[in-house]
Amino acid sequence: MIIHVDMDAFYASVEIRDNPTLIGKPVVVGGSPSGRGVISAASYEARKFGIYSAMPSREALRKCSSIVFIKSRMAHYAAVSRKIRQIFFEFTSLVEPLSLDEAFLDVSGCKRLFGSGPDIAQQIKTKILAETGLIASAGVAPNKFLAKIASDLHKPDGLTIVDPADIQNFLDPLSISRVWGIGPKTQQKFTRLGVQTILQLRQLDLETLQSNIGDSAQHFYNLARGIDSRPVVPDRITKSVSHEHTFPVDIYDDEVLTAWLHELTDLVGRRLRRHDIFAKTVQLKLRYDDFETITRRKTIAATHSTKTLFETASQLLSDVGRHSRRGVRLIGLGTANLSRSAPRQLSLFDQEDKNKQSRVDEISDSIRDKFGQQSLNRGSNLEHEIRLRPDPRIGNEE
Ligand SMILES: [Mg+2]
Repeated sequence: MIIHVDMDAFYASVEIRDNPTLIGKPVVVGGSPSGRGVISAASYEARKFGIYSAMPSREALRKCSSIVFIKSRMAHYAAVSRKIRQIFFEFTSLVEPLSLDEAFLDVSGCKRLFGSGPDIAQQIKTKILAETGLIASAGVAPNKFLAKIASDLHKPDGLTIVDPADIQNFLDPLSISRVWGIGPKTQQKFTRLGVQTILQLRQLDLETLQSNIGDSAQHFYNLARGIDSRPVVPDRITKSVSHEHTFPVDIYDDEVLTAWLHELTDLVGRRLRRHDIFAKTVQLKLRYDDFETITRRKTIAATHSTKTLFETASQLLSDVGRHSRRGVRLIGLGTANLSRSAPRQLSLFDQEDKNKQSRVDEISDSIRDKFGQQSLNRGSNLEHEIRLRPDPRIGNEE
């Protein structure tokens, strides 16, 4: 028996909880509408105006002039998320977090201790509310696919149970957009086939599906029948860890880019270290003023040291060449090829330097855990935000 727990409007709900004067107001968490910010969470009050996450902040402001913008505090949400995760672990060790605000729990083995799946889901909801003041929705079902659909059906404060004997009645009337892996493009293909509901999808035979949809045919064929055998995988290593930043104005200054790279490698390194993961691939991403996006990657010995990540990334940046005549609107730093194994033994000299660096990382991590990301700058990325050069045509000749 699987439970999918999904916090309702998580970031926005945390902000409203922390500041009760926001209760009843259309609150969004995200970037400022004067720049290129996007909404990362919208309260239910804001959603009434047609505002949803990933919408540009500017558009959200157009839809509702009384909207309250709040800058996101990711470290704070992560701390709340850890508290919620601790509640999950009181019931089962089989917890697979999908993001800060949702997770799958396999509670098949917990029946004798805590009761049935629906009982446990209710206990978890009650506990989350009591200990964090936040509301979660939950779906209880025989597998992950069904549990995830269920948690979303009656938000907010939903508790939806899928009876194993009644799966088809549960699925059939739903839109195929709820099926995992059906994005707008695949949905168009299905629309051409006259398929809009899961019932209609189920009525297609496998051959028809294969000739129209290709490789994913079997996947959709199974899901339409409520078949999903993927296990809940606790403590999964993510495939990549990355951070990116969109500038309020285009950047023409390599030094500013380098400074931001420092900030981003620090964020990425910190996340790797928090999960005790090592990365072998470092990837730089740049989006130019004409929206062309390039990526450059390099494979190195497995690391999670901020210094090594930064050195690799800034090498990639200088390999790309100078940017003085081409504005950069976004810079991103990604790591992939992740593993739990520590890098191979280094020479004594390297080892000493490495120990020193990991000590620096350790100290800065603990300061930031206590006081937030902005509390500490490592010299080279001081004040880079104010060193913007908005127009390259004025005084930018070498
Ligand atoms: Mg959520």
